[in-house]
Amino acid sequence: MFPQLILKPKKDRAFVHRHPWIFSGAVAQTPKAENGEIVEVHSNEGKVLGYGFFNPFSQIVCRVFEFDPTDKVIDAAYWQEKIRKALAIRMELIDFSRTDSYRLLHAEGDFFPGIIADAYGKSLVVQLLIKGTERLLPELKSAFMNLGFEHIYLKTKQSSQIIEKINEEVTWLTEPIDLPVVIHENDVKLKVDFEKGQKTGFFLDQRENRDLARTLSKGKKVMNTFCYTGGFSVYALKGGAELVHSVDSSKDAIAMCEDNVALNGFSDRHQSYVADCFDFLKQAEPHFYDLIILDPPAFAKSARKIENATRGYKELNMLGIKRIKPGGMILTFSCSQNIDKLLFQKIVFGAAADVGRNVRILQQLGQPLDHPVNIFHPEGEYLKGLLIYVE
Ligand code: SAH
Repeated sequence: MFPQLILKPKKDRAFVHRHPWIFSGAVAQTPKAENGEIVEVHSNEGKVLGYGFFNPFSQIVCRVFEFDPTDKVIDAAYWQEKIRKALAIRMELIDFSRTDSYRLLHAEGDFFPGIIADAYGKSLVVQLLIKGTERLLPELKSAFMNLGFEHIYLKTKQSSQIIEKINEEVTWLTEPIDLPVVIHENDVKLKVDFEKGQKTGFFLDQRENRDLARTLSKGKKVMNTFCYTGGFSVYALKGGAELVHSVDSSKDAIAMCEDNVALNGFSDRHQSYVADCFDFLKQAEPHFYDLIILDPPAFAKSARKIENATRGYKELNMLGIKRIKPGGMILTFSCSQNIDKLLFQKIVFGAAADVGRNVRILQQLGQPLDHPVNIFHPEGEYLKGLLIYVE
């Protein structure tokens, strides 16, 4: 039996809409439960509506992971089944003859709030984002291993205090292996370091957009800004780019980028720069590049930052639109959850208008199939991009 969280009368409406967050204002009776404990959610009339992770310290007091509670037992088999279903979708969608890395669990997108799991071959990197998920680690570990994963690395910010209860040093849940590993993505080889890298080590969400960059690069001069470990750069080289310039402010990222370019046998047409991308764009020779990739980190990490972020994206896109060769293309992205598709397009529109060049949208871009958006939780749609043509 789980502690019971009882909603106020008529506050089960959000439940009908299956939004996974219950706000404190909707709660009539708070459960006697610890932070992170699983609670049973009841309507005011006493009907069991679902199950979620409880957090008494947050505005979002409960994150629901189960909306169809009838006959459900929340045990090890339940979690294994959730993960098996997530894997089954990926098995259908990903061409495993060319790609061995994908997102296995995309939090709310897989009805599993608080967990991200990225598969890199037989290794799985797990990020715990909310309290309570750490209690499930033993069950999750055996579920992952039953499904064929051999190495499991736990990447959780120490500062989040989610793993205070387990050993602070916990990183590997299995025997450690040497890092970086080499993954395969659309027949490109890439080194990924779970430990030192950002997020889970690599940005799997750009896989399809990188492949698009490959098809656009033949004979082109390409600038890849915010290149990180050079994903877009290697694809552009593979697509036959005449030259690729990779830019990132992180020395470690650039070192890994050079490694990745060499690993795929392309060093002679590639040059990398440790630099600020805004400065690099300002100093770049006008009308030199045929294709510019703008893939910055999230400028708006919270709703309060939207205004500043908007200015940042606008400046970046203005620089790109100014510099690009007439008839050139720009792949421009935002991974800020707080900047939606429409706002992003307005920002790029503003940049084009201020620069005063004709710009056409050739394609609207987003996140790939293994980063599903729960239709009841549209906040999960975070990556948006445009392929634009500049006259
Ligand atoms: N495009 C990459 C992911 C980008 S992640 C890929 O496909 O894998 C964002 C990167 O931007 C990080 O590597 C970070 O070091 C870099 N960065 C952040 N601010 C920067 C700045 N002002 N100038 C240059 N690089 C920056």
